[in-house]
Amino acid sequence: MTCVPAKSLLESFLDDELDAAQTAHVEEHLASCASCAGVHAQLQELRAGIRSYAPYYRASAGLRERTQASVRQADRHADRRAPAFWRWMAIAAAILLAVSAAWNIALLRSRTSGADLIAQDVLSSHVRSLMGAHLLDVPSSDQHTVKPWFNGKLDFSPDVRDFADQGFPLIGGRIDYLGSRPVAALVYRHRKHIINMFTWPSDATDGGTKLDRGGYHVVHWNTSGMSCWAVSDLNVGELRQFADLYR
Ligand SMILES: [Zn+2]
Repeated sequence: MTCVPAKSLLESFLDDELDAAQTAHVEEHLASCASCAGVHAQLQELRAGIRSYAPYYRASAGLRERTQASVRQADRHADRRAPAFWRWMAIAAAILLAVSAAWNIALLRSRTSGADLIAQDVLSSHVRSLMGAHLLDVPSSDQHTVKPWFNGKLDFSPDVRDFADQGFPLIGGRIDYLGSRPVAALVYRHRKHIINMFTWPSDATDGGTKLDRGGYHVVHWNTSGMSCWAVSDLNVGELRQFADLYR
């Protein structure tokens, strides 16, 4: 990515509005371009300044329109004896409308939390691992080398198996971070496709979360107290085949 597209994406990047691939491209550019990194830092500072000194919420065009319309309507219907009453009713209605809109947005956000957010993180980590030089901390096709490598680096021991006979050879592993916890990333290959398989202990019983975006697929399941997430640009059928082997 060059400076022009990077700069044009910076604000969306700051607002977490980019998809995983674009986010990774911008991150990569920022790491190597002092000029764009400077603009990014300035925007961050500006945003922090606005947040701390001006708690200000701009109404959407639609909300503004409806509020103004209801005030106008109330004015029109206003009784000569009690115009103030109707004006206050209109303001109260507008406030109620704004509160209910904010509440609905909050509800909508909370529904996309949890598994969906992890799926997006999983996808971002996969893309990052393929773009940089950091795919493998322990490059090895030997499960008896990869599994003990995690000892002392994680507070759990991941289930490491090789599926070379079934066409999914293990090529190594690394430590990655998802959410705010370190997780085991096991890396497999199928033909020329890389599969990142993230796993960590979890009491979750959800499952079947999947995400298809930009040619990448994420498949999720839970097994024996472990949360498992496989991600690749393989087609969904073959990724499921891998998941079934691991399960
Ligand atoms: Zn640049």
